[in-house]
Amino acid sequence: MVILSHNKAGEFEDWDVQSQSSPDKVYLVTMDHDEKTVHCDCPDFQYRKNVLRFGGAKLEDTDNHCKHIKYVLNEK
Ligand SMILES: [Zn+2]
Repeated sequence: MVILSHNKAGEFEDWDVQSQSSPDKVYLVTMDHDEKTVHCDCPDFQYRKNVLRFGGAKLEDTDNHCKHIKYVLNEK
Protein backbone atom coordinates (compact mmCIF):
# COMPACT_ATOMS: atom_id res chain seq x y z
CA MET A 1 0.00 0.00 0.00
CA VAL A 2 1.11 3.55 -0.66
CA ILE A 3 0.11 6.79 1.06
CA LEU A 4 -0.46 9.32 -1.72
CA SER A 5 -1.28 12.30 0.45
CA HIS A 6 -1.67 13.29 4.07
CA ASN A 7 -3.51 16.30 5.45
CA LYS A 8 -4.11 17.60 8.93
CA ALA A 9 -6.60 20.33 9.80
CA GLY A 10 -7.51 20.95 13.43
CA GLU A 11 -8.66 17.71 15.02
CA PHE A 12 -9.06 16.03 11.63
CA GLU A 13 -6.34 14.12 9.82
CA ASP A 14 -6.73 12.22 6.56
CA TRP A 15 -4.73 10.05 4.18
CA ASP A 16 -5.24 8.89 0.60
CA VAL A 17 -4.19 5.25 0.54
CA GLN A 18 -3.56 3.46 -2.73
CA SER A 19 -3.94 -0.29 -2.97
CA GLN A 20 -0.91 -2.06 -4.42
CA SER A 21 -2.89 -4.97 -5.86
CA SER A 22 -5.36 -2.65 -7.63
CA PRO A 23 -3.65 0.75 -8.13
CA ASP A 24 -6.82 2.30 -9.59
CA LYS A 25 -8.36 2.12 -6.13
CA VAL A 26 -7.60 4.93 -3.69
CA TYR A 27 -9.31 5.03 -0.31
CA LEU A 28 -9.67 7.94 2.07
CA VAL A 29 -8.85 7.23 5.70
CA THR A 30 -10.05 9.93 8.11
CA MET A 31 -9.19 10.34 11.77
CA ASP A 32 -10.98 12.51 14.30
CA HIS A 33 -8.51 13.20 17.12
CA ASP A 34 -11.18 14.71 19.38
CA GLU A 35 -13.57 11.79 19.08
CA LYS A 36 -10.67 9.32 18.76
CA THR A 37 -12.36 7.59 15.84
CA VAL A 38 -11.17 6.47 12.40
CA HIS A 39 -13.09 5.99 9.18
CA CYS A 40 -12.32 4.60 5.72
CA ASP A 41 -14.45 4.75 2.57
CA CYS A 42 -13.60 1.23 1.33
CA PRO A 43 -16.40 -1.37 0.98
CA ASP A 44 -14.94 -3.48 3.77
CA PHE A 45 -15.14 -0.66 6.28
CA GLN A 46 -18.57 0.49 5.05
CA TYR A 47 -19.83 -2.97 5.94
CA ARG A 48 -18.26 -2.82 9.40
CA LYS A 49 -19.62 0.71 9.92
CA ASN A 50 -23.17 -0.53 9.45
CA VAL A 51 -22.59 -2.88 12.35
CA LEU A 52 -21.21 -0.10 14.56
CA ARG A 53 -23.45 2.56 16.06
CA PHE A 54 -21.41 5.62 15.20
CA GLY A 55 -19.73 7.12 12.16
CA GLY A 56 -16.37 5.47 12.66
CA ALA A 57 -14.47 2.90 14.67
CA LYS A 58 -12.72 3.85 17.91
CA LEU A 59 -8.94 4.12 17.60
CA GLU A 60 -8.41 1.26 20.04
CA ASP A 61 -11.08 -0.92 18.40
CA THR A 62 -8.60 -2.62 16.08
CA ASP A 63 -10.98 -5.54 15.39
CA ASN A 64 -13.10 -3.14 13.36
CA HIS A 65 -10.24 -1.51 11.43
CA CYS A 66 -9.90 -2.35 7.74
CA LYS A 67 -6.44 -3.00 6.27
CA HIS A 68 -6.13 0.66 5.14
CA ILE A 69 -6.69 1.98 8.65
CA LYS A 70 -4.26 -0.58 10.04
CA TYR A 71 -1.67 0.45 7.49
CA VAL A 72 -2.02 4.15 8.27
CA LEU A 73 -1.85 3.58 12.03
CA ASN A 74 1.25 1.41 11.63
CA GLU A 75 2.97 4.05 9.49
CA LYS A 76 2.10 6.92 11.82
ZN1 LIG B 1 -10.37 0.64 4.19
